[in-house]
Amino acid sequence: MSPTLPLRTGGNFPVRRIYCVGQNYAEHVREMGGAPAAGLPCFFMKPPDALLGPGARIAYPPETRDFHHEVEFVVALGRGGHRLTAAEAQAAVVAYGVGLDLTRRDLQAELKRRGHPWELAKSFSGSAVISELVPWNEGLAPTTTLRLEVNGRVRQETTLGMMTHGVGELLEILSRYDTLAAGDLLFTGTPAGVGPLVPGDRLLATCGEARLEAHVADTG
Ligand code: MN
Repeated sequence: MSPTLPLRTGGNFPVRRIYCVGQNYAEHVREMGGAPAAGLPCFFMKPPDALLGPGARIAYPPETRDFHHEVEFVVALGRGGHRLTAAEAQAAVVAYGVGLDLTRRDLQAELKRRGHPWELAKSFSGSAVISELVPWNEGLAPTTTLRLEVNGRVRQETTLGMMTHGVGELLEILSRYDTLAAGDLLFTGTPAGVGPLVPGDRLLATCGEARLEAHVADTG
């Protein structure tokens, strides 16, 4: 049975796949020690059962000493297709939310160094936390704020217009490589300000009308 996310308008959205993109805000690329690069965006995936919904209790994962938050704008597809145009891709989005791409940063650095895939750093159980989904309607303005507060202090804040590749462009590119489908989600990348979480932290992520509260469990 596929996991679901609650819809603001009632009912549940069945989740099929969770796509993610890395390095989609230039300031975050720089804070990670890289240089913004043109070309194919860095796509990766999380398994659907990595999903946690609103109000989540996040268990501090094993095998890391540097467990990071990445707040991200998330879009949900109501239909799919292969080789979509950017306009078709935009029109396929039915809802949005705000999410956390939780990351074992120390392990990710080691995997990058060894040229290995990122799965063990990015795709563990509970690594994808997402809010209630809000109807997309006409989409969100580029001036819309994406923000994460931890224990009442702002850790990450940007506007959606700062994304290197916009939602339509990301989905257009992704749909060349895979046939997208209803139920697919896309995490659209994190802005600068990523950093460590510790047990007991309380998180509040917001983007447009989407709002996500979560906390890191006191004991792992
Ligand atoms: Mn991310």
